[in-house]
Amino acid sequence: MSQIQTAVPKDETPAGECGYCGQPFPTTERLVLHKGLEHPDQLDKSEREAFTSTFSAEDDSLRQLRLKMLGVLILLYFAFLMVYAVFA
Ligand SMILES: [Zn+2]
Repeated sequence: MSQIQTAVPKDETPAGECGYCGQPFPTTERLVLHKGLEHPDQLDKSEREAFTSTFSAEDDSLRQLRLKMLGVLILLYFAFLMVYAVFA
């Protein structure tokens, strides 16, 4: 299903292969995320911990992105409000 997304170019050695389904991943981070999402019941303790920390790191960058987008939206809102106040 996600075969194309996670395909590793031939001249690159994959950072790791999923021990459960054999799918290669370009970075260990992606591998850890894949294991946590696709094989949550089969993880051992260290894999689960790796997944939790990788996943919350991902969450942090998402939250920052969302904050930035919110900032842009607020700026746009005030810009439109100003335009409206001046021309209406
Ligand atoms: Zn897998």
